[in-house]
Amino acid sequence: MKLILLGAPGAGKGTQAERISERFQIPTISTGERLRAAMKEGTELGKRAQSYMESGALVPDEVVIGIIKEYLSSDSCKNGFILDGFPRSIPQAEALDAMGVELDAVLSIEVADEKIVERMSGRRVCTECGSTYHVIYTPTKVSGVCDKCGTELTIRKDDAPETVLSRLETYHSITEPLKEFYSEKGLLITVEGQEKLEDTSALVNAALSRFE
Ligand code: AMP
Repeated sequence: MKLILLGAPGAGKGTQAERISERFQIPTISTGERLRAAMKEGTELGKRAQSYMESGALVPDEVVIGIIKEYLSSDSCKNGFILDGFPRSIPQAEALDAMGVELDAVLSIEVADEKIVERMSGRRVCTECGSTYHVIYTPTKVSGVCDKCGTELTIRKDDAPETVLSRLETYHSITEPLKEFYSEKGLLITVEGQEKLEDTSALVNAALSRFE
């Protein structure tokens, strides 16, 4: 299955991607994760992306398109993949088309802006293994420590309230038009993000059952 996950920042794409990945045994490709790793390593890519990411802006299209090209040409993607956070603009979607990628579905997780702001304030991440938690909705067993690798959790710089608002603005103006783009191709599936993670997962499972 070749799937794109769409949705505002904090809508739960990363968490759902993890679950879909386990269920269908296909890898998740997250451009955000890749860029954060590059920043941590201090590579040229990381340096180039840093100011955009920290201000909540999108990294230039050619940078993320390069990342995706590299991933999609690897063997691990030959049975399918989930794209989490890509494409985020029409030119990125067109670039994916130009790579000859034939998608099965584009799943959009819908969450109201007010909810997003509330959720982002409680988000905690592990910089070591990339796991994401929420202090109320998906807490760790030991407060502030990653369940998977024991590393102390941190708050993403771009989860600061003012940055979240600018990321939402960017989402509505640049990313959301992708819904129409994919709806016209008959690929769009919409799921309402629920209060409880398990409820959203159940809706996602039902929406994707025809691909099993
Ligand atoms: P995410 O982890 O998906 O929320 O992405 C975090 C940040 O990485 C975004 O706010 C952007 O600055 C950058 N980023 C991730 N994916 C893309 C993309 N497809 N296009 C442009 N910027 C991206």
